[in-house]
Amino acid sequence: MNSRIKLIKSDITTLHVDAIVNAANSSLLGGGGVDGAIHRAAGPGLLAECRSLNGCSTGEAKITKGYLLPCKFVIHTVGPVWYGGNNNEENLLASCYKNCLKLAIENNVKIIAFPNISTGVYHFPKEKAAAIALKEVESFLNNESSPEEVIFVCFDDENYILYKSLMGASL
Ligand code: ADP
Repeated sequence: MNSRIKLIKSDITTLHVDAIVNAANSSLLGGGGVDGAIHRAAGPGLLAECRSLNGCSTGEAKITKGYLLPCKFVIHTVGPVWYGGNNNEENLLASCYKNCLKLAIENNVKIIAFPNISTGVYHFPKEKAAAIALKEVESFLNNESSPEEVIFVCFDDENYILYKSLMGASL
């Protein structure tokens, strides 16, 4: 595993990093889960900026400021809803990670934190999602010198244990 990849169990809204990623929905106007937590902690300025973005397609990403959050930026990406695996879900999830990392480079983000995109109400199988996230981020970092650090932020024990074992397995 690339040494620029870290794993923590935490609430992503508390992190003092350059950018946190939001697992948003395509409206970018807020929702439940991590999206709701980010909007609550960021305050109304975030929603106002999001309204100007005209939504976001699945697999794509858009950046805003962090407002009242301790991070400078929020990178909003829309993960795929899991419909059983025959609707390009795996490629779309990989695109989320890749497009967030591209935006990070463009905005000089050195430390970026990701939640476990699509593994909540979008029901992407957690083990498959973790394997895709780790593979995509690792191959990106192997080809780029920035960002300096990518933090996977797990909120639930199940994801944390999964990531820990997958990261340990490839050491
Ligand atoms: P999605 O619609 O992409 O599935 P969810 O927000 O429902 O998005 O879930 C994505 C992941 O975010 C889940 O693994 C969930 O445990 C996690 N999550 C929820 N709240 C937070 C938080 N405050 N910080 C970090 N991760 C969170």
